[in-house]
Amino acid sequence: MVESLQEIQAKMKKCRLCLEAGYEIYPPAVFSGDSSAEFMTIGQAPGITEQQAQRPFNAGSGTRLFGWLTRAGLEEDWFRSTQYMSSVTKCYPGRQPSGSGDRVPGRIEQEFCRTYLDQEINLVDPQIIIPIGRLAINLF
Ligand code: SF4
Repeated sequence: MVESLQEIQAKMKKCRLCLEAGYEIYPPAVFSGDSSAEFMTIGQAPGITEQQAQRPFNAGSGTRLFGWLTRAGLEEDWFRSTQYMSSVTKCYPGRQPSGSGDRVPGRIEQEFCRTYLDQEINLVDPQIIIPIGRLAINLF
């Protein structure tokens, strides 16, 4: 049976796969949007402010992203309310052990979350995918 996007989103919110495998991540998953979206942004992983606000691209990364989109004629409020925003891994991965910046999700975490990303892409079927950051760009 094919699951709906809402069912996949509910699963993502409840998912603790990485935690159960021993990775120090901070659920729940962060994403926004529905299947009517024409654009899909895919970042690396949420940061701490995105996790706390449960809003993708909430802080510094959002300032950069919406700066680019505004220059392309796309307003932030319109984009947030009508388009889909997700990431390669959807839970906050915590800080790097060195303390400098957030930890880059490892290969296994990316593989765990890839099923969700593939389902999101299939079910939203966006006209344009905007990968943001090296991890997402390398995926495409
Ligand atoms: S990052 Fe993805 S696979 Fe890992 S616990 Fe969160 S939703 Fe699940």
